[in-house]
Amino acid sequence: AVNRAFTKITGYSENEVLGRNPGILKSGRHDREFYKSMWSSLTQDGEWQGEIWDRRKNGEVFPKWQTISSVRDNSGCLTHYVSVFSDISQLKESEEKLYHLAHHDSLTALPNRLLLNARLELSLQQAHRDSTHVAVLFLDLDNFKKINDSLGHSSGDRLLQLVARRLLLCIREEDTIARLGGDELVIVLGHLDDARHAETITREVQDRLSKPFELEGQDVFLSASIGISLYPGDGRDTTTLLKNADAAMYMAKSEGRNGYHFYSRDLTARASNSLSLETSLYRAVEREEFFLQFQPQVSLQSGDIVGVEALLRWQHPEAGLVPPARFIPLAEDNGLIAVIGKWALRTACMQAKAWQNAGLAPFRIAVNLSERQLRQGNIVQDVRDALEDAALDPCYLELEITETSVMKQAEHAAKTLDALREIGATIAIDDFGTGFSSLSYLKRFSVDRLKIDRSFVRDIPQDANDVALARSIVALGHSLNLSIVAEGVETQAQRETLTSIGCDEMQGFLYSKPGTASELASLLKPLARQAC
Ligand code: C2E
Ligand code: MG
Ligand code: MG
Repeated sequence: AVNRAFTKITGYSENEVLGRNPGILKSGRHDREFYKSMWSSLTQDGEWQGEIWDRRKNGEVFPKWQTISSVRDNSGCLTHYVSVFSDISQLKESEEKLYHLAHHDSLTALPNRLLLNARLELSLQQAHRDSTHVAVLFLDLDNFKKINDSLGHSSGDRLLQLVARRLLLCIREEDTIARLGGDELVIVLGHLDDARHAETITREVQDRLSKPFELEGQDVFLSASIGISLYPGDGRDTTTLLKNADAAMYMAKSEGRNGYHFYSRDLTARASNSLSLETSLYRAVEREEFFLQFQPQVSLQSGDIVGVEALLRWQHPEAGLVPPARFIPLAEDNGLIAVIGKWALRTACMQAKAWQNAGLAPFRIAVNLSERQLRQGNIVQDVRDALEDAALDPCYLELEITETSVMKQAEHAAKTLDALREIGATIAIDDFGTGFSSLSYLKRFSVDRLKIDRSFVRDIPQDANDVALARSIVALGHSLNLSIVAEGVETQAQRETLTSIGCDEMQGFLYSKPGTASELASLLKPLARQAC
């Protein structure tokens, strides 16, 4: 006998099953052993209970929870079996959902730390068996916090989802990408015959992330710092490998952003070194360990020096001269750039005035502004103060802003540049060509000069593509009334080509390396008087 629920669950009517063997419900999912043990407990204990997969009439396989009891008459003779079951497919589904919830990050649907540990453990066991390598990549987005703060958290969330999607394109199915929280992600590459493969994937990850992300109709730029540890060389268990990849990531960050770094044993020592770099940066501000160097910018037509760029230097008491690429990202992160940048601005203006007072013909002085300075509200006031304190005519001050930092905060930057220009200063776009802006986009900004990035100048004239690129930057720039400076000019051949394509000015080792104020003064003597 069967009841209505049986018909409803299995799809078989009473007529179809009466008199037949329950075996018609078999799903084929269980082996003979399964049924054998079921029957043996039925004969021995008179009862069986468990989860079993059956097949509905429409062919669908489903899980059910089933109890079977034997029924005996007064004389102890077996007469019937009674089976009670319930369809547990929904329960199973929510169990799976629960499992998924407990093991995945709800925002990106990537595995979380719990699942990461399990998967990494498994990869290590496999690698041990097959004598292969496993790479652990610890990834931290460099500027995520800024984007989150400026565009809002829902955009930040959306960005993380887009990042997760792009990262998934870089790996094989058997690899794992997990989100540990915030903007920290870990990639596990299992089964590597060659550990160098980790580097290839790392580059691809950085490459993919460097393409702009579209958020609310705006292009947003990201970069990531990545630390890599390898099994078995850098550790044999999950905890050590993760810890070492994390330390390597910090190294990558301290060397500037958008880099990667392999873990190496001396890293632990160096990581604490970089910590002390940060503390000594605080000290450097108090002890005034900074100074400026100056590099001339030369007219390609007349050969005259028409300006100088002020470049920041840090004389560390023990480590010696620390290049700006090393400490400026650090200062941007911890906010010290506000103080250091203000100092550079003031000192540069004072120096320009000092040269003028010494009887040299006046020329413009260019000061670099970092992204964070541009974003903070008081930059316009800082510039005003610096000019006033030095009594320098604003027309001699130029502010260099990198292309990417302008693009990253387009709306805000446009207003700031307008305000700076109203004061009377000029604006140059630094490292032009390395970002993703178009020249037509630049029309929206008050800009006077473009500095073609060194990377495009390097292979001129051998690389025809670079020559063509430089030529079109010059042509388009001129059509927007911008003057063009080529950065990093090192050879006479570069100079000649740049002159022939109409570039206005050059800056680079060919004419002079950055030097101290007095070194510069000796170059400046023959200068003809320049109009503002
Ligand atoms: P940048 O503004 O693009 O400066 C040009 C960099 O190229 C300088 O490096 C300069 O020494 C180097 N350079 C000049 N000519 C040549 C050449 O012919 N060949 C080669 N290989 N290199 C050349 P430096 O001084 O290390 O500065 C690096 C970056 O640090 C600057 O790039 C700028 O973005 C930043 N920076 C420097 N001073 C300051 C500052 O006062 N404030 C801020 N916010 N950033 C600064
Ligand atoms: Mg510059
Ligand atoms: Mg530059």
